Amino acid sequence: MLYLDNAATTKVNEKVMQEMLEARYAYGNSEAKFYAPAEDAKKLISLARQRVANIVNASPEEVIFTSGATEANNLVLKGSYWQNFRQKNKIVISSIEHSSVYDTCKFLESIGAELAIVSVDKTGMLNLAELEACLDEKTALVSIIYVNNEVGTIQNLDAIDEICKKHKVKLHIDATQAVGKVNINISKYSSLNYITFTAHKIYGPKGVGCLIKRNTEDNDIIPLLHGGEQENGLRAGTLANELIVGFGKACETAQLDFDDNHRKLIEYENIVLKKLQNKFGKRMKINNDFSNRIAGLLNIQLSGYNNMVLLKAISSDVAASTGSACAVSRPSRVLQNMGFDETTINESIRISISPYEEISNFDYLDKL
Ligand code: PMP
Repeated sequence: MLYLDNAATTKVNEKVMQEMLEARYAYGNSEAKFYAPAEDAKKLISLARQRVANIVNASPEEVIFTSGATEANNLVLKGSYWQNFRQKNKIVISSIEHSSVYDTCKFLESIGAELAIVSVDKTGMLNLAELEACLDEKTALVSIIYVNNEVGTIQNLDAIDEICKKHKVKLHIDATQAVGKVNINISKYSSLNYITFTAHKIYGPKGVGCLIKRNTEDNDIIPLLHGGEQENGLRAGTLANELIVGFGKACETAQLDFDDNHRKLIEYENIVLKKLQNKFGKRMKINNDFSNRIAGLLNIQLSGYNNMVLLKAISSDVAASTGSACAVSRPSRVLQNMGFDETTINESIRISISPYEEISNFDYLDKL
Protein backbone atom coordinates (compact mmCIF):
# COMPACT_ATOMS: atom_id res chain seq x y z
CA MET A 1 0.00 0.00 0.00
CA LEU A 2 1.02 3.57 -0.63
CA TYR A 3 0.73 5.64 2.54
CA LEU A 4 -0.06 9.25 1.68
CA ASP A 5 -1.33 10.45 5.04
CA ASN A 6 1.90 11.55 6.68
CA ALA A 7 0.40 14.87 7.78
CA ALA A 8 -1.94 12.81 9.99
CA THR A 9 0.86 10.70 11.40
CA THR A 10 4.01 8.91 10.29
CA LYS A 11 5.56 5.49 10.63
CA VAL A 12 8.26 5.30 13.29
CA ASN A 13 11.74 5.40 11.79
CA GLU A 14 13.83 2.24 12.42
CA LYS A 15 16.66 4.17 14.11
CA VAL A 16 14.12 5.84 16.38
CA MET A 17 12.53 2.51 17.24
CA GLN A 18 15.94 1.04 18.04
CA GLU A 19 16.80 3.79 20.53
CA MET A 20 13.37 3.50 22.13
CA LEU A 21 13.82 -0.24 22.59
CA GLU A 22 17.23 0.28 24.17
CA ALA A 23 15.78 2.98 26.43
CA ARG A 24 13.57 0.46 28.16
CA TYR A 25 16.59 -0.72 30.15
CA ALA A 26 16.82 2.78 31.65
CA TYR A 27 13.55 2.15 33.44
CA GLY A 28 14.14 4.44 36.42
CA ASN A 29 12.33 7.62 37.18
CA SER A 30 14.57 10.34 35.78
CA GLU A 31 13.85 12.53 38.81
CA ALA A 32 15.16 9.88 41.22
CA LYS A 33 18.77 9.93 42.42
CA PHE A 34 21.87 7.76 42.89
CA TYR A 35 20.96 4.35 41.46
CA ALA A 36 21.81 3.35 37.89
CA PRO A 37 18.41 2.93 36.20
CA ALA A 38 17.42 6.47 37.29
CA GLU A 39 20.78 8.02 36.46
CA ASP A 40 20.71 6.27 33.06
CA ALA A 41 17.20 7.60 32.43
CA LYS A 42 18.35 11.10 33.39
CA LYS A 43 21.19 10.93 30.85
CA LEU A 44 18.89 9.72 28.08
CA ILE A 45 16.30 12.41 28.80
CA SER A 46 19.00 15.04 28.87
CA LEU A 47 20.33 13.96 25.45
CA ALA A 48 16.79 13.90 24.03
CA ARG A 49 16.10 17.37 25.44
CA GLN A 50 19.22 18.68 23.70
CA ARG A 51 18.22 17.06 20.39
CA VAL A 52 14.68 18.46 20.56
CA ALA A 53 16.01 21.92 21.41
CA ASN A 54 18.49 21.75 18.51
CA ILE A 55 15.82 21.43 15.85
CA VAL A 56 14.61 24.98 16.56
CA ASN A 57 17.93 26.30 17.89
CA ALA A 58 16.58 26.57 21.44
CA SER A 59 18.30 25.69 24.72
CA PRO A 60 17.54 22.39 26.43
CA GLU A 61 16.13 24.08 29.52
CA GLU A 62 13.51 25.73 27.31
CA VAL A 63 11.96 22.36 26.41
CA ILE A 64 8.83 21.25 28.27
CA PHE A 65 7.84 17.72 27.31
CA THR A 66 4.12 17.04 26.92
CA SER A 67 1.93 14.25 25.53
CA GLY A 68 1.86 15.91 22.11
CA ALA A 69 1.11 19.15 20.31
CA THR A 70 -2.54 19.20 21.41
CA GLU A 71 -1.49 19.32 25.04
CA ALA A 72 1.31 21.78 24.32
CA ASN A 73 -1.10 24.11 22.48
CA ASN A 74 -3.59 23.87 25.36
CA LEU A 75 -0.78 24.63 27.79
CA VAL A 76 0.28 27.82 26.01
CA LEU A 77 -3.24 29.10 25.35
CA LYS A 78 -4.99 28.25 28.61
CA GLY A 79 -1.86 28.78 30.67
CA SER A 80 -1.23 32.18 29.23
CA TYR A 81 -4.89 33.22 29.46
CA TRP A 82 -5.18 32.13 33.10
CA GLN A 83 -1.98 33.93 33.99
CA ASN A 84 -2.86 37.17 32.20
CA PHE A 85 -6.63 37.59 31.92
CA ARG A 86 -6.97 40.18 34.70
CA GLN A 87 -4.83 42.65 32.75
CA LYS A 88 -4.88 41.21 29.24
CA ASN A 89 -7.66 38.90 28.11
CA LYS A 90 -7.30 39.02 24.34
CA ILE A 91 -5.94 36.21 22.16
CA VAL A 92 -5.37 36.58 18.42
CA ILE A 93 -5.30 33.57 16.08
CA SER A 94 -5.80 32.87 12.37
CA SER A 95 -8.91 31.38 10.80
CA ILE A 96 -6.96 28.29 9.68
CA GLU A 97 -5.59 27.09 13.02
CA HIS A 98 -5.58 23.40 13.85
CA SER A 99 -8.52 22.47 16.10
CA SER A 100 -6.21 22.08 19.12
CA VAL A 101 -5.73 25.86 18.94
CA TYR A 102 -9.05 26.91 17.41
CA ASP A 103 -11.33 24.90 19.73
CA THR A 104 -9.24 25.75 22.79
CA CYS A 105 -9.61 29.46 22.00
CA LYS A 106 -13.34 29.05 21.42
CA PHE A 107 -13.52 27.46 24.88
CA LEU A 108 -11.54 30.35 26.39
CA GLU A 109 -13.90 32.78 24.65
CA SER A 110 -16.82 31.01 26.33
CA ILE A 111 -15.29 31.71 29.74
CA GLY A 112 -14.46 35.36 29.12
CA ALA A 113 -11.51 35.69 26.72
CA GLU A 114 -11.72 38.15 23.86
CA LEU A 115 -10.87 36.24 20.71
CA ALA A 116 -9.84 37.87 17.44
CA ILE A 117 -9.65 35.62 14.39
CA VAL A 118 -7.58 37.00 11.54
CA SER A 119 -8.58 36.03 8.00
CA VAL A 120 -6.36 34.45 5.34
CA ASP A 121 -6.33 34.83 1.58
CA LYS A 122 -7.06 32.17 -1.04
CA THR A 123 -3.56 30.72 -0.58
CA GLY A 124 -3.85 30.55 3.20
CA MET A 125 -1.56 33.50 3.92
CA LEU A 126 -2.45 35.59 6.92
CA ASN A 127 -3.84 39.09 6.38
CA LEU A 128 -1.04 41.02 8.08
CA ALA A 129 -2.81 44.39 8.12
CA GLU A 130 -5.75 42.76 9.88
CA LEU A 131 -3.38 41.10 12.35
CA GLU A 132 -1.78 44.43 13.20
CA ALA A 133 -5.17 46.13 13.56
CA CYS A 134 -6.19 43.50 16.15
CA LEU A 135 -3.29 44.11 18.50
CA ASP A 136 -3.99 46.38 21.45
CA GLU A 137 -2.97 46.80 25.10
CA LYS A 138 -5.36 43.98 26.07
CA THR A 139 -3.66 41.41 23.83
CA ALA A 140 -1.79 38.72 25.77
CA LEU A 141 -0.90 36.39 22.93
CA VAL A 142 -0.83 35.89 19.17
CA SER A 143 -0.99 32.21 18.17
CA ILE A 144 -0.39 31.26 14.55
CA ILE A 145 -0.06 27.95 12.76
CA TYR A 146 3.35 28.24 11.07
CA VAL A 147 2.68 25.56 8.44
CA ASN A 148 -0.93 24.62 7.86
CA ASN A 149 -1.79 20.92 8.18
CA GLU A 150 -4.28 20.80 5.28
CA VAL A 151 -2.67 22.96 2.63
CA GLY A 152 0.93 23.30 3.81
CA THR A 153 1.00 27.11 3.61
CA ILE A 154 4.08 28.55 5.33
CA GLN A 155 3.36 31.86 7.05
CA ASN A 156 5.66 34.86 6.82
CA LEU A 157 7.20 34.53 10.27
CA ASP A 158 9.53 37.50 9.80
CA ALA A 159 6.59 39.82 9.16
CA ILE A 160 4.42 38.37 11.95
CA ASP A 161 7.30 38.69 14.40
CA GLU A 162 7.88 42.33 13.37
CA ILE A 163 4.25 43.19 14.02
CA CYS A 164 4.19 41.42 17.40
CA LYS A 165 7.49 43.04 18.37
CA LYS A 166 6.19 46.50 17.46
CA HIS A 167 3.12 45.99 19.67
CA LYS A 168 5.03 44.16 22.43
CA VAL A 169 2.83 41.07 22.19
CA LYS A 170 4.10 37.53 22.76
CA LEU A 171 3.94 35.16 19.80
CA HIS A 172 3.25 31.42 19.77
CA ILE A 173 3.65 29.30 16.68
CA ASP A 174 2.20 25.84 16.26
CA ALA A 175 5.12 24.34 14.34
CA THR A 176 3.77 20.77 14.28
CA GLN A 177 3.78 20.57 10.49
CA ALA A 178 6.84 22.77 10.11
CA VAL A 179 9.62 20.95 11.97
CA GLY A 180 11.68 18.81 9.67
CA LYS A 181 10.39 20.73 6.64
CA VAL A 182 11.19 24.34 7.40
CA ASN A 183 14.30 25.60 9.14
CA ILE A 184 13.29 27.27 12.39
CA ASN A 185 15.70 29.40 14.36
CA ILE A 186 13.92 30.67 17.45
CA SER A 187 16.66 33.18 18.24
CA LYS A 188 15.87 35.16 15.06
CA TYR A 189 12.48 36.25 16.34
CA SER A 190 12.32 38.36 19.44
CA SER A 191 8.54 38.15 20.00
CA LEU A 192 8.51 34.38 19.50
CA ASN A 193 8.12 33.08 23.05
CA TYR A 194 6.48 29.72 22.44
CA ILE A 195 6.86 26.94 19.86
CA THR A 196 4.89 23.70 19.98
CA PHE A 197 5.39 20.48 18.02
CA THR A 198 5.08 16.72 18.23
CA ALA A 199 7.14 13.60 17.54
CA HIS A 200 4.69 11.58 15.50
CA LYS A 201 4.73 13.88 12.47
CA ILE A 202 8.49 13.43 12.09
CA TYR A 203 8.74 9.63 12.19
CA GLY A 204 8.80 9.52 15.98
CA PRO A 205 6.35 7.92 18.42
CA LYS A 206 2.81 9.06 19.16
CA GLY A 207 2.07 10.47 22.59
CA VAL A 208 4.98 12.87 23.05
CA GLY A 209 5.53 16.48 22.04
CA CYS A 210 6.75 19.69 23.54
CA LEU A 211 6.37 23.32 24.27
CA ILE A 212 9.52 25.33 23.82
CA LYS A 213 9.14 28.21 26.22
CA ARG A 214 11.67 30.98 26.08
CA ASN A 215 12.39 33.19 29.06
CA THR A 216 12.33 30.26 31.44
CA GLU A 217 12.40 32.63 34.44
CA ASP A 218 9.16 34.36 33.38
CA ASN A 219 6.10 33.22 35.21
CA ASP A 220 3.99 33.80 32.12
CA ILE A 221 1.91 30.63 31.96
CA ILE A 222 0.05 28.53 34.51
CA PRO A 223 0.38 24.75 34.16
CA LEU A 224 -2.51 22.54 33.07
CA LEU A 225 -1.33 19.77 35.38
CA HIS A 226 -0.37 20.34 38.99
CA GLY A 227 1.24 17.90 41.36
CA GLY A 228 4.90 17.60 40.42
CA GLU A 229 7.99 19.71 39.90
CA GLN A 230 8.90 18.18 36.55
CA GLU A 231 9.50 20.34 33.48
CA ASN A 232 10.22 23.50 35.43
CA GLY A 233 6.95 23.11 37.32
CA LEU A 234 4.96 23.47 34.11
CA ARG A 235 4.05 19.87 33.41
CA ALA A 236 3.66 17.60 36.40
CA GLY A 237 4.01 13.84 36.00
CA THR A 238 6.71 11.23 35.55
CA LEU A 239 8.47 11.62 32.22
CA ALA A 240 7.83 9.01 29.50
CA ASN A 241 11.43 7.86 29.04
CA GLU A 242 11.05 5.74 25.91
CA LEU A 243 8.79 8.23 24.12
CA ILE A 244 11.04 11.16 24.92
CA VAL A 245 14.10 9.24 23.72
CA GLY A 246 12.20 8.50 20.48
CA PHE A 247 11.26 12.16 20.11
CA GLY A 248 14.90 13.18 20.53
CA LYS A 249 16.11 10.69 17.94
CA ALA A 250 13.33 11.73 15.55
CA CYS A 251 14.43 15.37 15.84
CA GLU A 252 18.09 14.47 15.30
CA THR A 253 17.20 12.37 12.26
CA ALA A 254 14.94 15.09 10.85
CA GLN A 255 17.82 17.56 11.09
CA LEU A 256 20.37 15.21 9.54
CA ASP A 257 18.05 14.19 6.70
CA PHE A 258 16.64 17.68 6.11
CA ASP A 259 18.14 18.41 2.68
CA ASP A 260 17.79 14.86 1.45
CA ASN A 261 14.17 14.71 2.54
CA HIS A 262 13.36 17.99 0.85
CA ARG A 263 14.84 16.80 -2.42
CA LYS A 264 12.98 13.48 -2.23
CA LEU A 265 9.66 15.13 -1.39
CA ILE A 266 9.90 17.27 -4.50
CA GLU A 267 10.80 14.25 -6.60
CA TYR A 268 7.98 12.09 -5.15
CA GLU A 269 5.46 14.88 -5.38
CA ASN A 270 6.17 15.19 -9.09
CA ILE A 271 5.63 11.45 -9.51
CA VAL A 272 2.28 11.67 -7.71
CA LEU A 273 1.16 14.70 -9.68
CA LYS A 274 2.08 13.12 -13.00
CA LYS A 275 0.26 9.89 -12.22
CA LEU A 276 -2.86 11.71 -11.03
CA GLN A 277 -2.78 13.97 -14.07
CA ASN A 278 -2.60 10.92 -16.35
CA LYS A 279 -5.54 9.35 -14.60
CA PHE A 280 -7.82 12.35 -13.94
CA GLY A 281 -6.70 14.88 -16.57
CA LYS A 282 -8.78 18.06 -16.44
CA ARG A 283 -10.82 16.74 -13.53
CA MET A 284 -7.85 17.32 -11.26
CA LYS A 285 -7.23 20.75 -9.73
CA ILE A 286 -4.59 21.69 -7.20
CA ASN A 287 -6.04 23.71 -4.33
CA ASN A 288 -2.86 24.75 -2.59
CA ASP A 289 -0.53 27.45 -3.68
CA PHE A 290 2.91 26.32 -4.78
CA SER A 291 4.84 29.48 -3.97
CA ASN A 292 4.61 29.33 -0.20
CA ARG A 293 4.14 25.82 1.03
CA ILE A 294 6.10 22.83 2.25
CA ALA A 295 7.06 20.14 -0.23
CA GLY A 296 5.14 16.87 -0.14
CA LEU A 297 1.71 18.17 0.85
CA LEU A 298 -0.89 18.42 -1.88
CA ASN A 299 -4.53 19.39 -1.58
CA ILE A 300 -6.28 18.23 -4.69
CA GLN A 301 -9.79 18.48 -6.05
CA LEU A 302 -10.95 15.60 -8.22
CA SER A 303 -14.12 16.97 -9.72
CA GLY A 304 -17.04 14.59 -9.93
CA TYR A 305 -15.66 12.42 -7.10
CA ASN A 306 -16.96 12.68 -3.56
CA ASN A 307 -13.83 12.59 -1.43
CA MET A 308 -15.14 10.14 1.20
CA VAL A 309 -16.46 7.70 -1.40
CA LEU A 310 -13.20 7.89 -3.34
CA LEU A 311 -10.94 7.44 -0.31
CA LYS A 312 -12.91 4.44 0.85
CA ALA A 313 -12.83 2.88 -2.62
CA ILE A 314 -9.04 3.18 -2.92
CA SER A 315 -8.22 2.44 0.73
CA SER A 316 -6.74 -1.00 0.17
CA ASP A 317 -4.11 0.46 -2.19
CA VAL A 318 -3.71 4.09 -1.22
CA ALA A 319 -4.12 5.80 2.15
CA ALA A 320 -4.96 9.50 2.06
CA SER A 321 -7.44 11.77 3.82
CA THR A 322 -9.82 14.67 3.39
CA GLY A 323 -7.88 16.85 5.79
CA SER A 324 -7.28 16.99 9.50
CA ALA A 325 -7.71 13.72 11.37
CA CYS A 326 -8.61 15.83 14.42
CA ALA A 327 -11.77 17.25 12.82
CA VAL A 328 -13.17 14.51 10.58
CA SER A 329 -16.86 14.98 11.33
CA ARG A 330 -17.22 18.39 9.67
CA PRO A 331 -16.27 19.93 6.32
CA SER A 332 -12.83 21.51 6.34
CA ARG A 333 -12.91 24.87 8.16
CA VAL A 334 -9.48 25.58 6.69
CA LEU A 335 -10.65 25.31 3.07
CA GLN A 336 -13.87 27.16 3.91
CA ASN A 337 -11.94 30.05 5.41
CA MET A 338 -9.61 30.10 2.42
CA GLY A 339 -12.71 30.78 0.32
CA PHE A 340 -13.34 27.39 -1.30
CA ASP A 341 -16.96 26.46 -2.09
CA GLU A 342 -18.76 23.43 -0.72
CA THR A 343 -18.44 21.34 -3.89
CA THR A 344 -14.69 21.88 -4.05
CA ILE A 345 -14.34 20.98 -0.37
CA ASN A 346 -16.37 17.79 -0.77
CA GLU A 347 -14.27 16.74 -3.76
CA SER A 348 -10.87 17.50 -2.24
CA ILE A 349 -8.33 15.17 -0.73
CA ARG A 350 -5.08 15.78 1.11
CA ILE A 351 -2.01 13.89 0.00
CA SER A 352 1.00 14.02 2.30
CA ILE A 353 4.11 12.16 1.22
CA SER A 354 6.92 10.57 3.21
CA PRO A 355 10.49 11.04 2.00
CA TYR A 356 11.14 7.52 3.33
CA GLU A 357 8.53 5.95 1.00
CA GLU A 358 9.64 3.04 -1.19
CA ILE A 359 9.67 4.50 -4.68
CA SER A 360 8.05 1.37 -6.15
CA ASN A 361 4.98 1.96 -3.95
CA PHE A 362 3.99 4.93 -6.08
CA ASP A 363 2.92 2.38 -8.70
CA TYR A 364 -0.16 1.75 -6.56
CA LEU A 365 -1.46 4.99 -8.04
CA ASP A 366 -1.61 3.26 -11.42
CA LYS A 367 -4.28 0.95 -10.03
CA LEU A 368 -6.75 3.78 -9.29
N1 PMP B 1 -1.19 21.08 15.38
C1 PMP B 1 -1.14 20.68 14.10
C2 PMP B 1 -0.87 21.69 13.04
C3 PMP B 1 -1.34 19.34 13.77
O1 PMP B 1 -1.28 18.96 12.49
C4 PMP B 1 -1.58 18.41 14.81
C5 PMP B 1 -1.78 16.94 14.50
N2 PMP B 1 -2.93 16.65 13.77
C6 PMP B 1 -1.62 18.87 16.13
C7 PMP B 1 -1.42 20.21 16.36
C8 PMP B 1 -1.87 17.94 17.27
O2 PMP B 1 -0.76 17.12 17.50
P1 PMP B 1 -0.83 15.84 18.45
O3 PMP B 1 -1.42 14.76 17.62
O4 PMP B 1 0.58 15.57 18.83
O5 PMP B 1 -1.66 16.19 19.63
